[in-house]
Amino acid sequence: MNVGLISKTELHEGSTYYAQGGISAVLSKTDSIDQHVEDTMESGAGLCKEKVVKAVAKDSKNIIEWLLNQGVEFTKNNPGSNNKLHLTKEGGHTYPRIVHAADKTGVAIQESLIDKIKRQPNIELFTHHVAIDLITKNKNNCYEKRCVGSYVLNKKNNLINIFKAKFVILATGGANKVYLYTSNPDTSSGDGIAMAYRAGCDVTNMEFMQFHPTCLYHHKAKSFLISESLRGEGGKLLLPNGSSFMHKYDSRGVLAPRDIVARAIDSEMKIYGLDYVLLDISHRNNTFIEKRFPNIYKKCLEFGIDITKTAMPVVPAAHYTCGGINIDINARTNIKNLYAIGEVAHSGLHGANRMASNSLLECIFFSKKVLNDIKKFKDEKHEDILNDLKNNTGKKISEEVIIKHSWKEIRTLMWNYVGIVRTNERLIKAKTRISIYKKEIEECFNKNIISSDLIELRNLVYIAEIIIMSALNRKESRGLHYNVNYPSTKDTAKDTVININTKNDTKLYQEK
Ligand SMILES: Cc1cc2nc3c(=O)[nH]c(=O)nc-3n(C[C@H](O)[C@H](O)[C@H](O)COP(=O)(O)OP(=O)(O)OC[C@H]3O[C@@H](n4cnc5c(N)ncnc54)[C@H](O)[C@@H]3O)c2cc1C
Repeated sequence: MNVGLISKTELHEGSTYYAQGGISAVLSKTDSIDQHVEDTMESGAGLCKEKVVKAVAKDSKNIIEWLLNQGVEFTKNNPGSNNKLHLTKEGGHTYPRIVHAADKTGVAIQESLIDKIKRQPNIELFTHHVAIDLITKNKNNCYEKRCVGSYVLNKKNNLINIFKAKFVILATGGANKVYLYTSNPDTSSGDGIAMAYRAGCDVTNMEFMQFHPTCLYHHKAKSFLISESLRGEGGKLLLPNGSSFMHKYDSRGVLAPRDIVARAIDSEMKIYGLDYVLLDISHRNNTFIEKRFPNIYKKCLEFGIDITKTAMPVVPAAHYTCGGINIDINARTNIKNLYAIGEVAHSGLHGANRMASNSLLECIFFSKKVLNDIKKFKDEKHEDILNDLKNNTGKKISEEVIIKHSWKEIRTLMWNYVGIVRTNERLIKAKTRISIYKKEIEECFNKNIISSDLIELRNLVYIAEIIIMSALNRKESRGLHYNVNYPSTKDTAKDTVININTKNDTKLYQEK
């Protein structure tokens, strides 16, 4: 088949490129598929789909073998030999099962796969193209909706094209850019989720946003993550006045799980109105710091912070979108011929809290599933699309300041009102404000020349609305969602499903 591969910027730019830790797989003799399943389900706090978790864990060994066959060079126990792959352990995993390529696993995977893609004659690349909306059709006036293509903005000439397709696969990544602080690259503006939602897809469990506890706080460091291993090596978390606080939240102190540390930092920042807290490793020996954390040391120096001498300012940052477009075990959405893979999707693997290094595994597992599913239908006829090309000429250019200002306002609002610790009052206030922004932005989108920034801003406001609706509908605290007004966890775990065609009635909240 002919494949058109569309990406907003350069092909490599996305979260995958920045994945450091690795990819989980059951490879060691002491480990077992059952244990990987148990660890994942434990982390997911009652919302994982067992069938999916089992299928992914069972396939993990094959996935690593497939990646090795594509030329990915994972770190071995003895470099240069044919020795076994080196496995590390991460939070939540009972056994060492993280396969990695030093601390640049994403780069290694992407470089091998991009190299292969570029050599495939049936794959055409469309970089610097932004998908705006999906095109759907109801087949022969019947109820079944199918996806037949997408409107796409070519950033180089600012023209909107129609891309017709028998099958559309969304692999557009997460929505973490909706928060002021994020570890993600700029591409993670939730475009795929927002497009699918507008087209009528079910969007599930978007209240579960994972926050990494420590991202560098510096006006020039957009999204630089400070690894959790820094705390493992003695790094202390301090308030700007030098006092420690983690002991108040968990007996494990700075070594408590990721979500507890993120919640504690957020709580201290809210109590004292702080912009950041401090992470200090300067008490350790200089040579040790430079050798153990060469990348962090170098990067911080670029921003004028010498971590061998001083503490670094850090904030928690939105890191992973656990919810997304609802898919089945073949990565099918509820719109025919539309598939979703990776962070854009909700497959049921992660539940209410993603276990580290399961996400890259999920991406490859569902890519294989889509391929097999499409093969079954590949002889279907191409649907015609009326040439109702959206016109991008003759309109006014919107003022950049309006777009930039709204971006910042939405992301700040989400950070302060819909962040790590939530309350009913803040969620309701956020809902009211977001509905005003949404109206304004839709008007702006319909009247003005469409730019990449405007497309992303429109998507961000939809994502914000979906997260707020999902959070309001969950009247309990579970996994990554913590609401002060509902601190306990219900006995029965249920998914939150949002769909544009059904009344997503947050009035339910007022009824209590
Ligand atoms: C700093 C960091 C470290 C991480 N470490 C790990 C780890 O060690 N192990 C692990 O398993 N996971 C890790 N994760 C999570 C993991 O990297 C991601 O979940 C995963 O890479 C997502 O892959 P994806 O293909 O779904 O999306 P991405 O890799 O983000 O790719 C999305 C692509 O879609 C394109 N796109 C988006 N919108 C549009 C549009 N409208 N039109 C056209 N193109 C569009 C983008 O340009 C991009 O090419 C980490 C994440 C981050 C940010």
